[in-house]
Amino acid sequence: MTTASGAVPLAAGTDTAPSRRYDVALLDLDGVVYVGPDAVPGVPGALASARRDGMRLGYVTNNASRTPEEVAAHLTELEVAAAPEDVITSSQAAATVVAELLGAGARVLPVGGPGVSAALRSAGLTVVTSAEEDPQAVVQGYGKDVGWAQLAEAVVAVRNGARHVATNADASIPSPRGPLPGNGAMVAVVVGVTGTPPLVTGKPDPAMHAECVRRTGARRPLVVGDRLDTDIEGARRAGADSLLVLTGVTDPALLLAAEPHRRPDLLAPDAGGLLVPHPPVELRDRTWRCGAWSVRAVEGGALELSDEGRSAGERSSGGDGLDGLRALCVANWAQHPDDGAAPQVVGADPAAAGALAAWGLGRA
Ligand SMILES: [Mg+2]
Repeated sequence: MTTASGAVPLAAGTDTAPSRRYDVALLDLDGVVYVGPDAVPGVPGALASARRDGMRLGYVTNNASRTPEEVAAHLTELEVAAAPEDVITSSQAAATVVAELLGAGARVLPVGGPGVSAALRSAGLTVVTSAEEDPQAVVQGYGKDVGWAQLAEAVVAVRNGARHVATNADASIPSPRGPLPGNGAMVAVVVGVTGTPPLVTGKPDPAMHAECVRRTGARRPLVVGDRLDTDIEGARRAGADSLLVLTGVTDPALLLAAEPHRRPDLLAPDAGGLLVPHPPVELRDRTWRCGAWSVRAVEGGALELSDEGRSAGERSSGGDGLDGLRALCVANWAQHPDDGAAPQVVGADPAAAGALAAWGLGRA
């Protein structure tokens, strides 16, 4: 695998398109398949092509509020073929964890949107509506209508001994008006009163990945995501390979400074990266090379990017414009195997300086 011990993530690449190398893609939704109300341009077509290559697709969301039926209907509207059984939500992972912990039929108080209680019922749990019904667990997920009364009920139940389970701990959710309170913020309201830390089952917890593997039957899954702290970290904790796309919240500067447990195996501009080989990054003569690009450490510890290969007539094998960034990441991560660090980067020539500026890196 590309994450073999000692190897720097991203360095191996893949000479086979991921759609032919992995049996299942576990796709994050927001920032990968869609952004806000719209599909990411080109992604519905790319996913259809991946499917034609024999790859199965699972749609994985930390947002617990919607049911799989609602998510599948939304995806179908965006011309992404999806059935409810292709959707894995953090509510389902939470329900599985609670059923394993407390047994089928256990009484659970849901706090959140319809997706939470639907998942609990599907897992054979008994849904109750008040602390007086003596719930053994409270499962809390995101829901727009969660208010004081539900939070108070959760507080009383947890104080009476119910296990507090959170579908995810994301403090905020993106919106056109900027970040708004996410499930983590609402969970913090309950924890602020009970003082009891919750069990969190969504990404990056391995419970979420296990739920994905259980539901898809994946033998060699590839996690595709836009967030380092949920998608990529979740994949690494579960021992799965991962592909980071740049259509969501992660920009090149964040990627370059990624901590070791949040470094992806593959990188692409968008989910179209499932369909093409990914070039390796190779170390020769103290220089990291990827396609036509090269990176070397210069005096003062800065990393110098150049596209010297281009003048020699070489062309980047990836052709997606990210080979220089791949080389920078591998060079930086090789120097920082144990910590995340933002390197100083410089361009050796106008093309390199232009690329760095386009990625928001360095002072061109
Ligand atoms: Mg996302």
